[in-house]
Amino acid sequence: MADIPSVFITGASRGLGLEFVKQFLSSPLVNTQVVIAACRSPDKANALQDLKKNDSRLHIVQLDVCQFDSYDPVVNEVRAIVGDKGLTLLINNAGILHRVRNLEEVTADLMLSVLKTNTVAPLLLTKAFLPLLKTSAKVNAAKVNNALSVTRAAVISINSGLGSIEDNGMGGYYGYRESKVALNMSAQSLSIELGPDGILVESIYPGWVQTDMGGSNAAIDATTSVNGMIKIMLDMKEKNKTGFIGWQGKVLPF
Ligand code: NDP
Repeated sequence: MADIPSVFITGASRGLGLEFVKQFLSSPLVNTQVVIAACRSPDKANALQDLKKNDSRLHIVQLDVCQFDSYDPVVNEVRAIVGDKGLTLLINNAGILHRVRNLEEVTADLMLSVLKTNTVAPLLLTKAFLPLLKTSAKVNAAKVNNALSVTRAAVISINSGLGSIEDNGMGGYYGYRESKVALNMSAQSLSIELGPDGILVESIYPGWVQTDMGGSNAAIDATTSVNGMIKIMLDMKEKNKTGFIGWQGKVLPF
């Protein structure tokens, strides 16, 4: 069982985010003392509230990732929870998809809203959490002989197969595709900048998953996807340079 002292997950009200929360609390793969579920409306997040009743390791914090001014108070809230151990793992999961099928349907508002949520927010949230991630990288360095590991300090962003340029044989999905391509570029630059601080940065794609976004006809359920992604995360030692990795370990080209 791998020791991941703390994890912060955005978009934890439903879908993959909620499933990450459940598995960090119960999976035999990981031992996690602090699970911080961030969501826009904690009062309406009934599944999270039910989980919290039975598990004191779960903390629920209010965060709309597009409210950049709220990041500092959220980081202070997290600092109060994790103390001098820092934050081990940030999972940038919150995302939106507008089904923009062709150029005719593209609007500035659609483009900007998806880029704000899927690309700008993960980068700025990583910036906000950097001091806590650096603390975790120092505190946990010895247990992994100074190597990079999600058990030491890491930022993992949830990408999409639609974010692969080489794999795009179908077109469409304007905005969403660009947002995920750019998310990959952020991960690449972040891995170069933060690697020397002991922080692993990587993108991972979840497969086509039965959630509100993926729809009921999707190929796999959230339990299978998240279980696969956690396994892949635990094996990560450095960032892939030629592509990004999926829930089954297959690397998709950029
Ligand atoms: P869902 O639509 O089921 O859930 C999206 C989550 O993101 C919700 O918790 C939602 O919160 C949250 N969210 C959206 N906007 C914001 C915001 N501004 N601030 C905070 N939270 C926000 O999607 P999935 O669970 O399927 O997707 C999770 C991630 O996986 C996304 O990044 C998506 O792009 C990616 N992905 C999903 C695939 C799939 O097949 N499902 C395939 C490839 C990638 P709220 O409840 O408040 O709306």
